[in-house]
Amino acid sequence: MIIAIDGPAAAGKGTLARRLAEHFGLALLDTGLLYRAVGMNLIRAGGDADDADAAAEAARALKPEDLEADDLRGDSAADAASRVSAVPDVRAALLEFQREFAANPPEGAKGAILDGRDIGTVVCPEADAKLFVTAGVEVRAERRYLELRERGLDAIHGRVLADMKERDARDSDRAVSPLEPAKDAYFLDTSDLDADQAFAAALDFIHGNK
Ligand code: C5P
Repeated sequence: MIIAIDGPAAAGKGTLARRLAEHFGLALLDTGLLYRAVGMNLIRAGGDADDADAAAEAARALKPEDLEADDLRGDSAADAASRVSAVPDVRAALLEFQREFAANPPEGAKGAILDGRDIGTVVCPEADAKLFVTAGVEVRAERRYLELRERGLDAIHGRVLADMKERDARDSDRAVSPLEPAKDAYFLDTSDLDADQAFAAALDFIHGNK
């Protein structure tokens, strides 16, 4: 069983993917981490996230243990990820890793859930269930702002909203694998849903009730 979850930042994909993975006993791959690790490896080596050749080289050199770095969750990693992810050779280098994970999920899991931006459209177009999880940009910015404050980080609401809009535009407008729902994806708008309600709606869809 393969489940593809796509959508913009802070729409609730990660939480939903974790809950579904636990529920169905599936291996989970947060594909954003791959792009974040490529971006941060590049920056730590003194490179520039807008340098396409260097980004492609960093993607080809990515190792599984790079996904364990503790600075991948922050906003600089998100920004670097969104820049390197527009480079076609970066996407090509990471495609194999993602398809291999889906085809041979680790630890004997009987299937996989991948969450990202192009899972249902490009990485696993044959997935058994595809969800496009989204929410209004103001709602997503508010969630991200509260999350940053909770982690004790200094966040400015207007800045978080502007960054979110910038990242949305970059992800949606890029030429290769832009963020867009697969034609057969279930569109789940979480603007007015909590995590339990989103999980229940996703389960209904997967069980064929929607
Ligand atoms: O999901 P997350 O916020 O960790 O993703 C960080 C960035 O990585 C996204 O803004 C997007 O540019 C890129 N990404 C992508 N394709 C994916 C996953 C993430 O382009 N499958």
